[in-house]
Amino acid sequence: MMTLLLIGLGLILGSFVNALVWRLHEGKDWVNDRSECPHCHHVLGPLDLIPVLSWVMLRGKCRYCHKKIEDSPLVELALPALFVASYYFWPLDLAGSSLVAFIFWLVFLVGFLALAAYDLRWYLLPNKMVFPLIALAVLQVLTMAILGGNWRVILGAAAGAFVISGIFYLIFQLSNGTWIGGGDVKLGIVLGLLAGGVIEGFLLLFAASVLGMLVSLPLILQGKASRKTQLPFGPLLIAGLIIVKLFGTAILGWYTGLIYG
Ligand SMILES: [Zn+2]
Repeated sequence: MMTLLLIGLGLILGSFVNALVWRLHEGKDWVNDRSECPHCHHVLGPLDLIPVLSWVMLRGKCRYCHKKIEDSPLVELALPALFVASYYFWPLDLAGSSLVAFIFWLVFLVGFLALAAYDLRWYLLPNKMVFPLIALAVLQVLTMAILGGNWRVILGAAAGAFVISGIFYLIFQLSNGTWIGGGDVKLGIVLGLLAGGVIEGFLLLFAASVLGMLVSLPLILQGKASRKTQLPFGPLLIAGLIIVKLFGTAILGWYTGLIYG
């Protein structure tokens, strides 16, 4: 039952993310404006806006001008998948403050998906998306500290943010912004706050680097990309955070067991 609910919610919010990303890029008012085809500007009807199904029925082409639909159905499918995976792999029982953290996490997944979709398309992490996420992350950390009566939560989160964002800031300065963008430095604050500690922060960076190699190696081997090809860093970092959130405790437990066991 919970699974079905999360899939439904994920599909609806996923298509909201598609619309949000597009409108933010076009600088449109995303509350009042109606969805339209970016090629022929035909206003889309309800039948064109069903998550995933419309795309399948129209075979990925606009009903009116038959050009490619730019919104990827993958975005709409990613969110239900992430919601359900988070539900099954959430490391704690879903009750009390852990349930509050889980609900926060679902909201973050929506924001992260929008960021990743934007970054993959336009190689940019816009402030309009990153700043609200920083505010939300601060709110989450404060809420968890109050609910748990544990102020060390704040200390851990701040340390995590300091490590990730600090490292990115150094790289940004040393490379004159060519290796990573300023958006990554700001995103680092969100990721560090949510990772919740220094070790978790390093684990996140490690996971993102491994993923980055896995993604870019086949491309380099096939000659489709060189070492200099721009790789959107944001989605990799977000994937790193998801790994830390869902499996971090298990990974770190396994690792300490390896050393001290
Ligand atoms: Zn069209």
